[in-house]
Amino acid sequence: MVNTTIKTTKSQEIFAAAQNLMPGGVNSPVRAFKSVGGQPIVFDRVKDAYIWDVDGNQYIDYVGTWGPAICGHAHPEVIAALHEALEKGTSFGAPSFLENVLAEMVIDAVPSIEMVRFVNSGTEACMAVLRLMRAFTNREKIIKFEGCYHGHADTFLVKAGSGVATLGLPDSPGVPKSSTITTLTAPYNDLEAVKVLLEQNRDEIAGVILEPVVGNAGFITPDAGFLEGLRELTHEHGALLVFDEVMTGFRIAYGGAQEKFGVTPDLTTLGKVIGGGLPVGAYGGRRDIMSMIAPAGPVYQAGTLSGNPLAMTAGIKTLELLQRPGTYEYLDQITQKLADGLVKIAQETGHSVCGGHISAMFGLFFTSGPVHNYEDAKKSDMAKFGRFHRGMLERGVYLAPSQFEAGFTSLAHTEADIEKTLAVAREVLASL
Ligand SMILES: *Cc1c(COP(=O)(O)O)cnc(C)c1O
Repeated sequence: MVNTTIKTTKSQEIFAAAQNLMPGGVNSPVRAFKSVGGQPIVFDRVKDAYIWDVDGNQYIDYVGTWGPAICGHAHPEVIAALHEALEKGTSFGAPSFLENVLAEMVIDAVPSIEMVRFVNSGTEACMAVLRLMRAFTNREKIIKFEGCYHGHADTFLVKAGSGVATLGLPDSPGVPKSSTITTLTAPYNDLEAVKVLLEQNRDEIAGVILEPVVGNAGFITPDAGFLEGLRELTHEHGALLVFDEVMTGFRIAYGGAQEKFGVTPDLTTLGKVIGGGLPVGAYGGRRDIMSMIAPAGPVYQAGTLSGNPLAMTAGIKTLELLQRPGTYEYLDQITQKLADGLVKIAQETGHSVCGGHISAMFGLFFTSGPVHNYEDAKKSDMAKFGRFHRGMLERGVYLAPSQFEAGFTSLAHTEADIEKTLAVAREVLASL
């Protein structure tokens, strides 16, 4: 499939050259548009809610660099703060006051976090939290959920297929069985399955890790009582509860899903928003557990660029912007208008869909639903989603190039942007 209505000559040239230089032409797989077909556009610059590609086309952006751009791209206050920080140098590799500032902001915001350690990505945060869970409990097995993504560390890359779900078969070549044999999986929103796993592996489960609202299998919300149930079950079995809030942290509420749903895990991972567009991840939680991390304790974890002054600066300014009154009310209002509008228009134009939103995170599945887990999500009409995606792109709306990704809005999206998006969606959906 080629772009029919917009000129993408330069994008195509650059992407063709990229394929000889980098595997698949990209540095992260989903960017290559494999699951929606067609060529990716090559970005030139981003600002507010918009993207401009190398051919000069403008798009309304609902990916927001996969979450960090919650204040809008290149926010003038973030850019100004970065300019100032840049003058003082790009990396210290030593303590800086900026680390205290962001640490205090994170500890104040996120209910479970009494102490925090900064790293450079969400993947790194999840790897570190895994080692910590195992060290603290002196147990090796973990439970994760089908369709939840916790970065690309070996132990988390476990096939989510139903028959092999609990066997811990590796999802990728190169992942040794020994790394995934300790990974047990359950369907999302299935407390009974978790209970059975905990009972079958009594005193062996270090913890349960999950996306408290799923964004990596499309947008899936926890059923009433699911998070509370996990809290109780993990308590009963002496296992830790870990919320991977790399996506939901500071996005669905300032204090993340744990604030929104009133369920406090033992440990939390963060990323995306807290870096304000620079590479940052973090993990934190109960003081007694975090005190096991080196050099306070024996659990090793380190990073040359961790706590980097530019990354801390972007994070601090981004959180400051989010603290301003009305932030989450506004995000909720525009995102509701978008998510409800998309579902309504799709139904009016004869499509079976379901979708929803929480604050600045939304999703639309091409299945009548309801979608409670990854199996349900997989019932989506992927080919139709691909055509929808391409139609929106050609008309100036940039959506995540996969049915299994959530969408993101930002403070920079205006009511007019949402209205334009819905008008475009009506045109596209009517033509599918
Ligand atoms: C994005 C994401 C990760 C991985 O973060 P990276 O910064 O891409 O390594 C982990 N967990 C969740 C829930 C994510 O959304």
